[in-house]
Order: sequence, then C-alpha cells, then structure tokens
Amino acid sequence: MDVSNAMHVLDGIPVSGGSGVGRALLYEETHDVRAAAALPPRDVEEEIQRLRRAGNLARDDLAALHESLAASRDAIAQIFTAHAAMLDDFMPQLESTIREGVTAEHAVQTVIHAAAARIARVKDPLLSQRAKDIVDVGRRLGRALRGMMPEGPETGHENGPVVVVARDLTPSEAVQLRGRNIAAIALEQGGHTSHTAVIVKSLEIPCVTGVEGLAALVGPGQMIWVDGSQGRVVVEPDAAAMERAVELGRRYERLEAALLEESGLPPETIDGHRAVLLANIEYPLDVEAGLARGASGVGLYRTEYLYEAEGGLPTEDEHLAAYRATLERLGDGLLTIRTFDFGADKESPLAATAPEPNPALGVRSLRWCFAHEEPFRVQLRALLRVAAEGNVRIMLPMVGSLEEVRRAKALLAETAAELEAAGIPHRADVPVGIMIEIPAAAVTADLLAPEVDFFSIGSNDLIQYDLAVDRMNPRVEPLFRPSHPSVLRLLQRTIDAAADAGIPVGMCGEMGGLSIYTVLLLGMGLREFSLTPGYIPRVRRLLRTLTMLDARRLARECLRLSTADEIEALLRARVTPIGAG
Ligand code: PEP
Ligand code: MG
Repeated sequence: MDVSNAMHVLDGIPVSGGSGVGRALLYEETHDVRAAAALPPRDVEEEIQRLRRAGNLARDDLAALHESLAASRDAIAQIFTAHAAMLDDFMPQLESTIREGVTAEHAVQTVIHAAAARIARVKDPLLSQRAKDIVDVGRRLGRALRGMMPEGPETGHENGPVVVVARDLTPSEAVQLRGRNIAAIALEQGGHTSHTAVIVKSLEIPCVTGVEGLAALVGPGQMIWVDGSQGRVVVEPDAAAMERAVELGRRYERLEAALLEESGLPPETIDGHRAVLLANIEYPLDVEAGLARGASGVGLYRTEYLYEAEGGLPTEDEHLAAYRATLERLGDGLLTIRTFDFGADKESPLAATAPEPNPALGVRSLRWCFAHEEPFRVQLRALLRVAAEGNVRIMLPMVGSLEEVRRAKALLAETAAELEAAGIPHRADVPVGIMIEIPAAAVTADLLAPEVDFFSIGSNDLIQYDLAVDRMNPRVEPLFRPSHPSVLRLLQRTIDAAADAGIPVGMCGEMGGLSIYTVLLLGMGLREFSLTPGYIPRVRRLLRTLTMLDARRLARECLRLSTADEIEALLRARVTPIGAG
C-alpha cells in the first residue's frame, strides 16, 4: 500500500450529496465462510441444529432491522422482509446439503453464494441486484454461524467521525451505519443504483462510489474528505481543503433540506417560462431517485448497461422486462430509451474480438448497431412493444447523417411490420428522436430535424468531437470547454433548427446540469434538461431565480465573445450557482 501524507484528489460517482470529513476506517468485507468449510461436521444432526439456531438469529436480526426502519423508511424496510423470505427459502436446501456430510458454513457457501453467483451471471439489472441481496443473506447467516451477530463496520473511532472506505458494502452493512459516527462513505466499486446506494442516500450520508485506486491509496486513520455532490474524494486534505470541506458540509445540509422541499414546485423562471426536467438513468431503479426529485420522466435511458461481458447481449424478453420495470415506476411520465450506444467509453460486445485503434471514431454506437443488425432488431422489437404500453420515445445515439436516420427508421418499420404480421401488440408510430453529439449532426441539424420527432444534445460527446478532446483522458481535461465558441455555435444551430422544424430539443449531457451553462442554454432557447437525478433540485431552484429576459441577454452576449475564457468568465460573473462549490 502506497500511503503518503500528500493530498490526493480522486474522482468517482456522486451517489449521495453532501460533504463529510473524517478519519479513514478501512472496512474489509466480512471474510467469507470458505475457511470454516473444509472440515466435515462431527455430527450431522447437531450441525443442522446449529444451522437452525443461526437461521433464527439471522431472522431475529432482520426483523429488528425491519422494525427499526418500518416507520420512517418503509421501502428500505421491505428489503429486509425480502431477505428474511429468501433465508426461509434456502433453509431446506441448506439442511439437505448438510446431510450430505458438510458443515453448515460449507452448505451456505455452496447453496447461497453459488445461487447468487448464478443469478449474477444473468444480464438483468434487477436480477443482479437480487444476487447482491442473496450474498447479503449468505453473509448474515455466515456471521450468525460464527456467533458474530450483528456485525458491521466498527465505527467507534475515538478521534471523531469516520469515513468508511471499502471496496463495496452490502445493503445490511450500509444500514448498520445508521446512527453511528459516519461522516461519509467512499467505495471503490458500485454505482448509484444498488440497494446499498438507495440506503446510503436515504440515510443522507455523503457517498462517492467507483473511486478507482482508493484502497491502494488510503491507510487506516488517514484524513479523508468526501464531496458526495461532486463525486470527489480527497485524501489528506490540506488546511485550505479542510476549511472548504467543513464549510461545504454545513451549507449542503441546509440547502439539501430546502431543495427537496421544492421538488413539487414547477421548474419555471420568474417570468413564467417553464422548463422540463428529466432524469438520466442507467437502471430501472434510478427512476426512483429522479422521481423523488420531481423529474417528469426519463430523458436518457442508457441501455448499454443491459449488456454484461459474461452474459452476452440481452434477449427480447430481457429488454422488455427492463423497459417495463422502468415504465411501471414512471407511471405516466415520459420514458426516452436510447438504443445501444456501445463502444468508446462504454463497454462493447465487439471489443474482445476486434480491438480498434481509435474506438471513439470506430464502429461504435449506431454504427455498431448497423454492423450487428440482429441484436439491434431485437432491441427495436422490444422498444416497439413497450411503446404500446406507455409514454415511450426511442432515441438514436451518435447520428452523423441523414442516411443513418433513414436506415434506422427503415429497420424500425421492417420490425414493426414483422410484429404486425405476428399479431404482437406494438406501437409503429412511436416518436423517434436523435442525439446530436457529432458536430456533423449539429451542423446539418436543419436537414435532420424534419425527419425526426425530437433532438437531444449529447454534450459529452459533442464537445469531445468538436474540440478533439478525449472525454476520458484526464490529461486533456482542461481543454474540454463547454464554453468554447465553436461549441456554442453548434448548440445554437441545433436549437434553432429544432425550433424552425417545430420539434422539441433537450440536452442530456452533463453540461446541462452545470449552473452557468444551464442559464446559458436556457437563454439560447433550450427548455428540456435531462440530468443525473442529483442535479435536478439545484437546476429547478436556479431556474426559479432567473428571468428569461436576463438569460437571453446573457446568451446573446456570450455568443458575441471570441474565446472560451471570456465566455466562461462572463458566465461566472453573472451566474451564482445554487449551493456554489
Ligand atoms: C453525451 O454524450 O452527452 C451523452 C449524454 O451520452 P453518453 O454520455 O452516454 O455518451
Ligand atoms: Mg454520448
């Protein structure tokens, strides 16, 4: 372990907002039961009794957890009821495995953990969450067998609050952090959709996940600052950073409470111009985070995450199940499902077989779909089917030309005809929109607009391709400038083309959630913002402090300037971000 006292800043995924500072508490996952499993039991009946006693202990613990949560956090309490039911389901099989002459620990390993591993291989986001739950049940039972119940990270650090640093946490480990002296959580793994993330968010503990290299860098007791809103972890913050951390922490707490209370307020300017706030999601479970913050739907569902390297591409039923699960959570809300955007920064089913010299410029996204028509058709079938069940739009990523739009729409029409012939319910006239994320598409937006139902600007890629700056390469990060005059011109052209054609235009890239650019975009005529759920409350508040008149004036001034520096300076001078910092 390379532990030093120099300040290090690491970026991850912002899962739960807020700012927390404390001493690092390195939490190793509960060690698994393999070590205890090797020996045969002395007495099989005694071993079964031992298992039953541990089962009872685990059940009691789950019931206590349920009870302590039921009043205030019913949805989370239900997770533990489900865990108890899983435990009961596993008991008969565990007993019969012990009768084959193995220890209870070994039975837990082969029955429960093996079941979790099997389920984890199925590429359904809901099922893979279930696998995590099963692992949690297995660990709980394992701990009970060792007479170590209940167990969670030991947080009684005498030097004040701690920051839990771990590879990952199970839902019940996370819940046991409740009411302890936890300033924040930083995890090397994980995303923002797991039950663990749901729990951590609801416990209002600042949390950053996906922090690469965290475990190797952090030593026990080191000072850590977690900025859960920015997705940043600072190891050994210097005096200035510490001061900032504390100040931000106080401010976040006050602001967060006030912002959440505003989730039901319309996202409109002082002079009555209404915007549409949508959520960007990767898994159906993300919808809840968006809805809780008053999103009126989903503006970007990244379906690439239905693919997992071990499991292959999703079947039509798997697509459908994920889309339906999302739609169910959304109710009447809009659901914009993006077709596969494999490649470049996202995992690609092609990567293993045909590595490309420049993946960002290669067979990615829609190009991949045309090169692999069968899986694309499978997705289109599922999309047409689910479109008959709710307020669904289809969005094509990385469109570079009108030919591509026409080709995709022709495939969609063929697919609809097949469904029609087979008598399968579907919606042939589902709205089809495109992402504007290649400069060629922005420049020819006027040619594309008449043939599609909406535009959504993918600023992450649009900026990358416009400025030739790899969005994944930290070394060129300073050159990634949303304020570059070229970017603004592409954006204005796109927004104007949409207005001329009478189609909606939104932005689903990160730029839309950054305060100074939210105002600029609004002034440029953009009305729809699809955002990572955590950004939604701030954008709503910001909109409610502006007049459209001022936003338009500011945008006009920006468009007259010649450099990114000037534009950014003007925006920073005029726009005060909500919860600045
Ligand atoms: C974008 O490029 O801005 C976008 C929203 O898509 P992704 O980040 O998934 O490439
Ligand atoms: Mg993109």
